[in-house]
Amino acid sequence: MEKKGKILIVDDSPSNIQIVNNILKIDYDIFFATTGEDAIKNAPKILPDLILLDILMPNMNGYDVIKVLKNEPLTKDIPVIFTTALDNVENEIKGLDAGAVDYITKPVVGAILKARVDTHVELKKQKDFLRNLSTIDGLTGISNRRMLDEYIEKYYRLGIRKKLPLSILMLDIDYFKFYNDFYGHIKGDECLKSIASILKNSLKRGYDLAARYGGEEFCCVLPETELKDAIKVAERIQDSVKESKMEHLASPIVKYVTLSIGIYSSVPTEKTDHNKFIQKADEALYMAKNNGRNRIMFIED
Ligand code: GH3
Ligand code: MG
Ligand code: MG
Repeated sequence: MEKKGKILIVDDSPSNIQIVNNILKIDYDIFFATTGEDAIKNAPKILPDLILLDILMPNMNGYDVIKVLKNEPLTKDIPVIFTTALDNVENEIKGLDAGAVDYITKPVVGAILKARVDTHVELKKQKDFLRNLSTIDGLTGISNRRMLDEYIEKYYRLGIRKKLPLSILMLDIDYFKFYNDFYGHIKGDECLKSIASILKNSLKRGYDLAARYGGEEFCCVLPETELKDAIKVAERIQDSVKESKMEHLASPIVKYVTLSIGIYSSVPTEKTDHNKFIQKADEALYMAKNNGRNRIMFIED
């Protein structure tokens, strides 16, 4: 069955939340916030498919909230519908200008609210679906290079703003050319799929991303992760590959498939850009290759 859509209701009046909750709770998973600050704090964690946002609230009003949401990489694509008692045209225009997809006045008419919410959630899901198609690697089913680049850039910017570390792992199968030559291309493809699924299963946190960088090279993005924890993830990956015992009789080092891993960890700054992270992780990978392969090397600054 298709997963239920998630809706975040933001309203300072619990009774308003209750009314909307009653209209939508059968078809959706409902989350709520009673202040703008709470909405901003929780939206990136919940990642709802739609936000219903009140305008008149103490401290931060709805216009302030949508401004922050639309500037935040994790929340900027979440559709927002204003639900407000302000029923004049100026407010509606201001709301739509701020990036809302719709504007509904209170008291809400249940059937209208439900119909509009359904429409926008459906659109959001179609958008996500198309996006997935264009960001997934056809062979392995994990993210592709396009997604990877976008993802690193997104967390690079977030890292600058929040002064959070970012770690990148570059991984490359050792002597994979020999593997293909020995076992054939089809077996080679199978091996790439197995490695991709090991990577995916080794990443435990929701924000971590495993991607195919190209050929037999992979990349993992670990936001909010410092070097020592990135090393643990790399070790976990090495262990899983070892445990999987994929035979590689053509490898000059071990008779099983092995990976070399390069890690770069740092707190992003304005001075460079996200490409530096890939370059540095790649340098570390090169060191791992030159030091005998089947090992982890890192660069930190
Ligand atoms: P090293 O230990 O230095 O990484 O040696 P290597 O042989 O793994 O490195 P090299 O870059 O020389 O070879 C990579 C090989 O990966 C070449 C190519 O045959 C294989 N390869 C790249 N993409 C694919 C793919 O999609 N499917 C298969 N089966 N093989 C691929
Ligand atoms: Mg290789
Ligand atoms: Mg390679």
